[in-house]
Formats: sequence, structure tokens, C-alpha cells
Amino acid sequence: MERSGGSAQKLEKLGIFTLRDFLYHIPSRYEDYSIISPISALQPGEIVTIRGTVIDIKNLFTKRINIQKALVADENARIEVVWFNQPFLIRSIHKGSRIALSGTVDVFGGGRAMKSPEYEIISEAPDAQLIHTGRLVPIYPETARISSKWLRRQIHTILTKHANDFTEYLPEHILKNHQFLDLPQALWKIHFPHSLEEAQKAKNRLAFDELFLLNLAAHKRKEEWNAKKVGNRFFIAKFKKEISAFWNSLPFTLTNAQQRAVKEIFKDIASPKPMNRLLAGDVGSGKTVVGTIAMYLAFLNGFQSVLMAPTEILAQQHYKTISELLTTLGVSVHLITGSVKTKRGKQEKPDILVGTHALLARNDHFETVGLVIIDEQQRFGVEQRALIRQKGENPHFLTMTATPIPRTVALTLYGDLDLSFLDEMPKGRIRVKTWFVPEEKRKNAYAWIEKQIKTFQSQTFIICPFIDRSETMQSVKAATKEFEYLKKEMPHVRFALLHGRMSSKEKESVLEAFRKKDADILVSTPVVEVGIDIPNATIMVIEGAERFGLAQLHQMRGRVGRGTKESYCLLFTQSSSQITIQRLKAMEEIHVGARLAELDLKLRGPGDVFGVLQHGMPSLKIASFSDFGLIAKARNEAEELFPKLSSYPLLVEKLKEVTSEKVSAD
Ligand code: ADP
Ligand code: MG
Repeated sequence: MERSGGSAQKLEKLGIFTLRDFLYHIPSRYEDYSIISPISALQPGEIVTIRGTVIDIKNLFTKRINIQKALVADENARIEVVWFNQPFLIRSIHKGSRIALSGTVDVFGGGRAMKSPEYEIISEAPDAQLIHTGRLVPIYPETARISSKWLRRQIHTILTKHANDFTEYLPEHILKNHQFLDLPQALWKIHFPHSLEEAQKAKNRLAFDELFLLNLAAHKRKEEWNAKKVGNRFFIAKFKKEISAFWNSLPFTLTNAQQRAVKEIFKDIASPKPMNRLLAGDVGSGKTVVGTIAMYLAFLNGFQSVLMAPTEILAQQHYKTISELLTTLGVSVHLITGSVKTKRGKQEKPDILVGTHALLARNDHFETVGLVIIDEQQRFGVEQRALIRQKGENPHFLTMTATPIPRTVALTLYGDLDLSFLDEMPKGRIRVKTWFVPEEKRKNAYAWIEKQIKTFQSQTFIICPFIDRSETMQSVKAATKEFEYLKKEMPHVRFALLHGRMSSKEKESVLEAFRKKDADILVSTPVVEVGIDIPNATIMVIEGAERFGLAQLHQMRGRVGRGTKESYCLLFTQSSSQITIQRLKAMEEIHVGARLAELDLKLRGPGDVFGVLQHGMPSLKIASFSDFGLIAKARNEAEELFPKLSSYPLLVEKLKEVTSEKVSAD
């Protein structure tokens, strides 16, 4: 408990390398030992602190355990105290020691006792303070063998000696505007508060700092990006005729949101600095066509475009869609994936290269890239995103995502990007009827599905969850088992199976067969989550639905309701937890991804919402993505201050410190 030999290594595990790291190791909670009581008044079950003198202490060894037994007295009464398996205690607690003890009052051998209380020798020094007892006591995220008690003592010492060395770097007007504690105060009070309100106030201040600095860093990256010049500027007005011919060739009219996004993109790419824009929109909101018009414009200006997608299935689908839209307009489209081999040297330079990350490894064909698009950007790592951007000379850069994140969060996370939101679905899209199905209605549900198949030739997805957070053998087995089970359960139904351990050829042929209606039900792991488009599929069944974030469920639900037929989503869970049911019920009502994400942030916290969806997202140590109010405050203050940043040298310094710590996001 007291020992921490080899502590450097263990501290490393906690991410503690410097004095600063100690102070920013934030308590996960506080134990309330602030009630101090005379021994005579103790009631069993109370959590209290007592102060007294040690009358006796000894080790008692039995066969299995050893017990440390002490007798402690104050002016009027005495109490027995026991600890277990801590024989070294008698080295620090002696007869006659003045001691404070915090914990629960228990009944033991007929009288009152304290079992394994927190203890602290009361020092005679005039300015001595209790830190482990008699107050709100911070409890830290611990690692093997680094105890809260040890950390608490180190942190208290560091605060006593160095708190005032942590100079305030926030401008005074910000402190005033929000009535923030100053930095040394905040550091003291997050660790040793007098009340929970005080702790919250301290946390609020430090969380603001974290978000504020994140925003400033984004502004800084944006400024750096804006200093770039594109290789060659695009023209738009010149191609009015061609562009309207393209519009007219579309089988639909663009939604208002799409039109807005196109306008924003046109403005960007007509400017001498490269575009750096994120196009965010729910599954099915029509991002592809927006990207395609940008690629067409690049073509008209004599530039190539690259479109990178996270999976082979998606790349193929894009290849098909874009070819259909643009080939008749004289644009050549070319597919590059791991399994599609191109004949080198023979072909003309293609105008558009569509592919998977296999694009990254290629250098041929990329002579005049002027536009780079990444679809489902959250699926790629930071490095891959950086690499693809190196094709061409400062090309325009458009990323697309269906990650349903609340606008406030997006503005902070992607503060260095310009954002376009497709917050409107194409007209005529039918809302997917969603039901949370209790386990006892499972058989009925199967019967209903069979009937739908028989009557309407409907097709169904059944998604089995990842057992871990990725496609492990276990998940594959679970899906395979479900597949075998259902085949027996519904002998007249034709089943197919899809999982991530199949080769991409196998996957493609399974999907192709399903698309051609050679199977009625596709049992799958969540590999179908992203992108695939099978308009005849109208029923989505999700097993173990509690394992997915609501945003993710929403994305999976988006696999159906793509055609004109009424579509359904059935959610199953084995869990009976209230929160789970509340979450799944919300799926019945809410059909906007960002709102579901927001709700999940509140109900489950950011880890679950973003954990699976997002690579390379900055993780927050103190603040939370669910604190929308504080997020907005931090963003507004950063926006206002950034142009004047250089007049705040301490803040500049601080910003350097934090940005050098983090791997830059691009
Ligand atoms: P996502 O945003 O998920 O990438 P897609 O670009 O794949 O969505 O579009 C989904 C479907 O909607 C496609 O079949 C596409 O042709 C169609 N679509 C796109 N925009 C519109 C629109 N304005 N009106 C009708 N259908 C549209
Ligand atoms: Mg898409």
C-alpha cells in the first residue's frame, strides 16, 4: 500500500512523466470522509472519521490470514480497529501515535469496530493537514500497485511546493467571463476540494482549458493550411454549360442541403488555396453525387481526381456509380483495389481513380491530381489520410463521413476543416419502421419475416454483433452458428452468409448473389455496416443490439429503406438493463443520426459512441464530448481570441506545449 518500488515504470503506465502529469492525473471520484465524530457517538453503518490515540496495536497470525488489531481511544471512548494482511502497519502505527481513521463503522465481536479503515498519523507540525482522512479524499485511476494513497501524497507534496509555478495562461477576461478559478486554485481544488461543488468548479475550469486549447490548435492548423497554394486554380464560370448538362443528366434533383454543399465546394475550389472540407451526412443523404460533381469540375479543368474508399465493396460500388454518371460525358474512370490488377503502361491516363488504400501504394497514373476525396474518412488512420493527400501538388481535399456526430462536437473535432452538413434526406425516402423486439416475441418475428419473404419477395439482413470490437474468429463463429441455426428454423428460406474473414472475391460474390435475389436472408457480421446498396433489401435485423452505439445502429439501419418499398428494422437484445431498453426504444422514435449520437453521448459517454467509429480522434482527458455547453463556450472564446493570439505569450507557450505532446492530427 505504501510501497511503490520501480515506480517510474508503473507511472509510465498511467502516463505520468513530469510534475505536470502528476497534477493533471485527475481523480476519478472522491471518498467523503468529511464527517468527524467522537468515538462515543459512532453508529454502525456510518462513514466517518475519528481521531484518537493508539492504545495498542499488534499482529495476530492465523493459518490463513494475519490480522492487525489496534485499540484507539479519544477523550470518552475507545474502539477496536482491524486490518487484514498488512503486517508492516505496526512499523508506522505505534502505541501512543495520534491517528485519524476514516471508513465505515462496523459491528465486530459484539462491539463497534472499524474494519480496514484509511489511516493517517496526525502530525504535530502547526501547518499539517489531513490528506487521506477527515475530508473529501481523491480517488485516482490506479494501475497495478500504484495506490491512490501514494499518488495522493505525491500530488499533495507537489502542489504544496509547486502549485504557484503553474502560471496562469488564460487571459483575464476569459477567467472573468466564466468565473473560472485561476490555475493554481483549480489544480489544488480538483485534488483537495472542500466540497463536491468546488471539485466540479475546478474540473470545469480544467476541462475548458482542454477544449479551448484543442480549438486554438485547430485554428493554428487551419492557418497553416491556408498558407498553401494550389498547383493550379480551377475555373467554374467557364464551364457553366457542361455543369448544367451534368445536372440535367441526373435522374433526380438535388436536395437543398446538397445544393448548399455544392456551392460551398465550388467556392473553395475556385480559390487559390486548396480546399479542406468535410462533407458530413447520414447514410443515404447523397454524398457521392456531391463528390462526383467536384470530380467532374476537376476533369473539366484538366485535372485528375482520386477517390479512396475504406472497403473493396464500396470502391467497386463507387466505380460503378461514377462511371454511370460520367462516362457518357467523356470522363475515364479507373478502379484500383488490392484484387483488381491493372495492365501497366497500356492505358491512357485515367481522369478519375477510384480505389481502396491500394491507391496509396501506387505512383503510376497520378500525373496531374488536382482533387483528392476520401469517403468514410473515419475508417482511415491519420497516416493514410496524410499519404493520399500527397498525390498531386497541394490538391483540393474533400473528406466525407457518415459518422453521425452532433454539430457542436464536429466543430471542435474538425475545427481545422470547413464543414458542410447534408442534414436533409432526398425526397421520397421512406422512414425505416423500427421495433425493439422483446426476446419472447422472437419466434413471431421470424414468422413475420418468412411471410414478408413469401408475400413481397422481401430481402433481409441479419447482423450478428462483433463479439469483441473487431472481426475476430469468435464473431465469425457466432455468425456462422446463427446462419446454421436459422437454416433449420426456416427451411423454406434461402440463406447466405457474409463475414470479414472471407476473401474479397468471396464477399463480392455473396453480395452479388444477394443483389441478384439468389438468397432471401443474408446473415452477416457488421461488415455490411458501411456503404453497400441493395435497394430490394427491406428488413434489417440486428442481434445483440446493445453492443452497438446508437449511431452505429442507425448506420446499419440505413442499409434498408433505399428503394421505394416499406422497410423495417428489428432490434434484439438479451439484456434487460433499463438503459439498454431506453436506448433501443429511442431508435423507434429518432431517425436523425446526429440526434442519436447526441443521446448516446448522454446515456453512455463518448467512449462507446465514438470508440468503434472513429480512428484518430483526439481523446479528451478531462472534458467530455457530452458537455455541449462548455464545448460551445470554448469554441467561441477560441475563435475570438485566435486573431490576437500573439498578444498572449503565455498562451502561445502553452499551446506549443500541448501540440508538441499530441501527434498532430494531420
Ligand atoms: P451516402 O451519403 O450514404 O454516400 P449515396 O451518395 O450513396 O449516399 O446516395 C444514396 C442513394 O441516394 C443513391 O442511390 C443516390 O443515387 C441517391 N440520391 C442521391 N441524391 C439524391 C437526390 N437528391 N434525390 C434522390 N435520390 C438521391
Ligand atoms: Mg457513401
